[in-house]
Amino acid sequence: MTLSALNADVIVDQLNAGEVTATDCVQHFLDRIQVHNAELNAFIRVSESALEQAEAIDQRRKAGESLGCLAGLPIAIKDGICVSGQPTTAGSKMLENFSPPYDATIVERLKSADAIIIGKTNMDEFAMGSSTENSFFGPTNNPWATNRVPGGSSGGSAACVAARLAPVAIGSDTGGSIRQPASFCGITGLKPSYGRVSRYGLIAFASSLDQIGPMTRTAKESALLMSVIAGFDPRDSTSSKEQVSDFLKSLETPLAGVRIGVCRDHLNEGLDVEVKTKINDAISVFKQLGANIEEIELPQTKSAIAAYYIIAPCEASSNLARYDGVRYTFRAQANDLEEMYRNTRGQGFGDEVKQRIMLGTYALSSGYYEAYYLKASKVRRMIKQDYDEAFKKVDLILGPTTPTPAFKLGQHTEDPLAMYLADIYTVSANLAGIPAISVPVEPSSTGLPIGLQLQGRAFEENTLLRAAHQFQNETLWHTASPSEPWRTQS
Ligand code: GLN
Repeated sequence: MTLSALNADVIVDQLNAGEVTATDCVQHFLDRIQVHNAELNAFIRVSESALEQAEAIDQRRKAGESLGCLAGLPIAIKDGICVSGQPTTAGSKMLENFSPPYDATIVERLKSADAIIIGKTNMDEFAMGSSTENSFFGPTNNPWATNRVPGGSSGGSAACVAARLAPVAIGSDTGGSIRQPASFCGITGLKPSYGRVSRYGLIAFASSLDQIGPMTRTAKESALLMSVIAGFDPRDSTSSKEQVSDFLKSLETPLAGVRIGVCRDHLNEGLDVEVKTKINDAISVFKQLGANIEEIELPQTKSAIAAYYIIAPCEASSNLARYDGVRYTFRAQANDLEEMYRNTRGQGFGDEVKQRIMLGTYALSSGYYEAYYLKASKVRRMIKQDYDEAFKKVDLILGPTTPTPAFKLGQHTEDPLAMYLADIYTVSANLAGIPAISVPVEPSSTGLPIGLQLQGRAFEENTLLRAAHQFQNETLWHTASPSEPWRTQS
């Protein structure tokens, strides 16, 4: 079987068994990127040192040195995560020429597990968006239908895994940016609990919501990556000291007796009929696996989008204040300091980012703070309380990841509200800090992927991964790949 058809755990086994070298493996994926990236635009940049790193690993293996658990495995990293000495742009002109002098903690951990960073993937500017159309480097196309979006903001990471330009990738999720593109591209995407994975070296969008996580074909591969990237980091003050469970060990524990809650409201209003049918079919699979399905209520989630689109821009307006042209970013020509600030921010940021900075600044300003930010924070607390109540009755919450399959490029660019509604099922998990995973279910009748979301209690990623893995043992939807040459779809 060709390397690109294999899952990461199998590739690692073959590398360890000496059936394939790291150099051949990296070369295989570099060749695929060479052939397909022009059409998909999934990568902003390919790493120049990937082959060199692979050769070094092969040498060390030959010399009998002990290697890390991902030795020789190529991995793609979202371009909002710092890799030392490699340009890290967050999809923005503002950071077009920024090369961080340090690695993000997760990059450091992946490198010490001897994984090979193969390139940096495309994203919505500063992770603001649901379609990857807000990238300074142009949109990414969905390999299942190249006239459709891959989702966002981690659209490059999702598209490259779906198109097998990299076996696995890393994304970040502030309101759905791992799960929504995973759903649109037919892969598995996990947003861990807030604090589970270090944010050190992740270019901040909304710091109380941002989380880094794996984007893979299977839940098992996500468990493998989580075993490397999860855990306390003294460099991230919000990182949790909570014990990290053995994500791989519990995967096969049967689901008998696990209680799964379904919120009927989430399966009605505004939901595409095909998405609804496929999610209901998936519920039957979980029943067969021995899970008990129960109805639950999450009354405050109806306000989640409104709360999120106040809180996230408020935090962003503060986080993005540092990009002023004085320190390390793009600097526009100007005659005096004030004009320099104005031109730098005017020319360096795209429209969506500017819109959010203005919204956030407005909502935090004196006289409006109580009406907007404070109120949104109270709604956030109520959403969290809804979950606390629900998780007294059930262990997991199941529903769709997105209300529709992938939409067309340009379909929502003129209507921000329609774009924001793509996040309706995903933002609540970020507001509550709980983990959530998206897994592929049966595609639509026109062959577009559909995702199912499972949400769990804080720090219970192992239950999510276990349920997702067992669903994938029973179904084949996660094994499907888009056919080459890539097609469009009306
Ligand atoms: N689509 C959401 C937004 O635009 C979420 C983005 C994200 O998770 N980074 O804010």
